[in-house]
Amino acid sequence: MEHNLYTHLRAAFPADLDQLAVEAWSADGSCRGYSWRELDEGSARIARLLGSLELPAGSRLAVQVEKSVESMLLYLAALRAGLVYLPLNMAYQPQEMAYFIGDAEPAVVVCSPDNFGWISKLAFKAGSAHVFTLAEDGSGSLLERAVHFEAVQQPVPCAADDLAAILYTSGTTGRSKGAMLSHRNLLSNARVLKDYWGWQPGDTLIHALPIFHAHGLFVALHGALLNGSPMLWLARFDPRLVIQLLPRATVFMGVPTLYTRLLAEPGLTREVASHMRLFISGSAPLLIDTFQAWQQRTGHTILERYGMSETVMLTSNPYRADERHAGQSQRRGGTVGFPLPGVELRIVGDDGALLAAGEIGAIQVRGPNVFAGYWRMPEKTRQEFTADGWFRTGDVGQQDEQGYVTIVGRSKDLIISGGYNVYPAEVEGCLNELPGVQESAVVGVPDPDFGEVGVALVVPRAGVTLDPAQLLASLRSRLANYKIPKRCRVVAELPRNAMGKVQKQLLREQLQALSA
Ligand code: ATP
Ligand code: MG
Repeated sequence: MEHNLYTHLRAAFPADLDQLAVEAWSADGSCRGYSWRELDEGSARIARLLGSLELPAGSRLAVQVEKSVESMLLYLAALRAGLVYLPLNMAYQPQEMAYFIGDAEPAVVVCSPDNFGWISKLAFKAGSAHVFTLAEDGSGSLLERAVHFEAVQQPVPCAADDLAAILYTSGTTGRSKGAMLSHRNLLSNARVLKDYWGWQPGDTLIHALPIFHAHGLFVALHGALLNGSPMLWLARFDPRLVIQLLPRATVFMGVPTLYTRLLAEPGLTREVASHMRLFISGSAPLLIDTFQAWQQRTGHTILERYGMSETVMLTSNPYRADERHAGQSQRRGGTVGFPLPGVELRIVGDDGALLAAGEIGAIQVRGPNVFAGYWRMPEKTRQEFTADGWFRTGDVGQQDEQGYVTIVGRSKDLIISGGYNVYPAEVEGCLNELPGVQESAVVGVPDPDFGEVGVALVVPRAGVTLDPAQLLASLRSRLANYKIPKRCRVVAELPRNAMGKVQKQLLREQLQALSA
């Protein structure tokens, strides 16, 4: 059997290749359509160019460019050419890029023309023989070269376990690790999601996420392609443009901050969202507030799911009722739903023993979607898998009697105060319910007495003045004493990365520097 992911995506293209596949909106407001034929032929030319470099199997292609349809074609071309695709956030600075390029030793690097000077130096130092440029408008040496190649290309045959991509994790808990994902990992997950989320003929996806991360690159893009569905493609998230496009779309995927930014727009109404079939959220916890506000404003219940670079998607709230869950509220806010078909998930205690329903412990998973290991980190890979082959996600959570999974935080964010476990998500949930509180983060800092103590950072709602002492006092009737943060600070905002994840590591460092 042929395992090259592109072959399977291509098989789902509509028979009429001249139909619209992507309507792309640039940051400057201009819009351009691409047909399915253009996707196929454009990626064929780039794949042929890459093939002409005669690189050994397993060679990496590192890419740091702005989001554009051409950058998506480059991803498809990498699959077709059998290279390992390695996307990098445009926000990465020279020092970070030096780490990624030095670590991955890509044979080919594609960067924005503006960065060619310094990136090509890094690339050549790491042994890359080829550096191409690609700008947001498609200009640059990559396409200048590719146009001279034929628009037909047979995807390089792959084994299921051949690597398709190395995805560096978001670096929320420490230095980013390269997760090695195979064609099988990606295809199996894309197929499960196509079915689970009820992708259907007539669907149109609004693609407003970056494509250097699993959410935008795999979940969103593979979802649309594997269903032969057109995409309304935004180079950058723009809430007003998304609202303008909603009446023409059926599926939207976003990280929680995208939902809060959409809710801030008066133009978001029930009527404008009435054509939509599905709103999906993930990458970071969706606040109950946002979940409920969305229901009230649009009449839609956001479907929250959970996954990570190492595994693509793991759990999802249900799309439709099935016998097992009939009669229940289907998509439950504050939970990430059920393990996806084919994904095994278990919750274990510190000693590795299985925990009962409702008990909080470490989340471990197994399945065809789980990655092969961390790039050039055999020791780390060994540590993160159990002897019987389960991957330790690093997330802490619980699963109730019905199977709904709730994430309570990351094991690295867990606070152990005076010997007691404090789950930041629980404390944050209580703080967020207090009047005037927009959102909060609770992090642990070293303490000579308790080992660690919690510090709360609280963001007020617009126009509200909060009193830190009062906030802590209000928690007393809601939480056991050992869970109550010892200090509280009111802050204007929480630091977030590109995927809307709160940077707790950064908060811990800042708090420690303050107390030093
Ligand atoms: P690093 O591994 O480098 O510290 P990271 O874990 O943030 O960074 P990603 O792989 O991008 O890198 O993110 C996966 C993590 O995001 C998950 O382990 C989980 O903690 C979090 N996450 C994803 N979806 C959800 C969700 N729906 N609710 C809560 N957390 C989520
Ligand atoms: Mg992680």
